[in-house]
Amino acid sequence: MLFDSFLLVGFAIVVAVAYWLLIGRKENMPEQADRIHGKEQGFVKESVATKPAEPTSFFRALSRSRVQLSSSLRGLFSDGFNEEIREDLEAILLSSDVGVDTTDWVLEKLEERSKQDDVSDPDGLLALLKGILASTLVVSGGTFEEGATTPHVILMIGVNGVGKTTTIGKLEHRYQVEGKTVLIAAGDTFRAAAVEQLKSWGERNGIPVIAQDSGADSASVLYDACESAKARGTDIVLADTAGRLQNKTNLMSELEKIGRVLAKLDIGAPHEVLLVLDAGTGQNAISQTREFTKAIRPTGLVLTKLDGTAKGGVIFALAREFGLPIRYVGLGERAEDLRPFDATSFVDAIFAEAGE
Ligand code: GDP
Ligand code: GDP
Ligand code: MG
Repeated sequence: MLFDSFLLVGFAIVVAVAYWLLIGRKENMPEQADRIHGKEQGFVKESVATKPAEPTSFFRALSRSRVQLSSSLRGLFSDGFNEEIREDLEAILLSSDVGVDTTDWVLEKLEERSKQDDVSDPDGLLALLKGILASTLVVSGGTFEEGATTPHVILMIGVNGVGKTTTIGKLEHRYQVEGKTVLIAAGDTFRAAAVEQLKSWGERNGIPVIAQDSGADSASVLYDACESAKARGTDIVLADTAGRLQNKTNLMSELEKIGRVLAKLDIGAPHEVLLVLDAGTGQNAISQTREFTKAIRPTGLVLTKLDGTAKGGVIFALAREFGLPIRYVGLGERAEDLRPFDATSFVDAIFAEAGE
């Protein structure tokens, strides 16, 4: 009997210890459980959140261009400005895609200004250089008047793959946030996928997309779209175009025709012609600008994909050589990643001291 009781107590102790080992210890580890739980909650909250996502900052997006350009400049001027340093600086500017002409111009200015102001210390020379590069972007600071006539027609041009259609999606988001009504004209009748891309965005955001069958005349699609926007009282027309380079002559004459046909409307369209350029193509962006400006004069530039490229220096050459304002820059693939260009923030971010 006594033995039986001992057995029972012993069994109870074994069960208690086992219980403690299996369950109690788990309860004593709330920290990890909370961490996992918290993370999941945060994730869910983040993906369902309705508040607008943070735009990518110039500083973050320009990290690779900053390494390419300004990190190599730091320390360069420790011996003042002499012939050897001039050569090193030339190499740095060229490797950052500032381009031959603009590099020559910058070097001349730097030589001239450093003599004039008697600057020879490293910080002073770096500040001079920064000011000279920044001065190329001055034309970009101009303000832009929108909405004088309705609809305000924005024509996007540029070669395939630079980000025209994506930029239309981003602008659509931007104007909707501002409370403007938007209509999209699927003028890239060459690529069926482009029309589909625009239609799926349009449907999601309740934005009308005017399109015709593949191969239709681009100018007539855009004309119809503008007429339709006029009739509806729409604020903004975003017009896509084809960018096939393999047939340059056709592309350019198509753009000329678009200009001619839109001019027949009495609304002064297109009000903006935005030439879209991929920053990652460096000097190609310069030759593309040269080609396109022969067919139709852009009112401004959009420089996409500045995130993830070290060739951001091309912006200085573009601004100086063509005198065209940079209207927007693309800093990523999300709708929020299109930013109006701001020369001061851009130059500050590209010359920021390394180390976040
Ligand atoms: P905003 O988004 O237009 O406000 O500008 P950004 O955040 O892109 O950065 C522009 C300015 O902020 C520049 O002056 C940068 O030097 C500075 N900046 C932003 N973030 C950092 C950072 O993490 N480290 C350093 N050193 N500078 C930064
Ligand atoms: P389109 O042929 O000129 O219409 O070019 P798309 O709009 O179809 O874009 C081509 C590719 O570039 C797509 O994969 C886009 O997501 C990508 N893209 C466009 N703009 C940006 C940008 O600013 N940053 C990055 N990282 N990708 C971009
Ligand atoms: Mg496209």
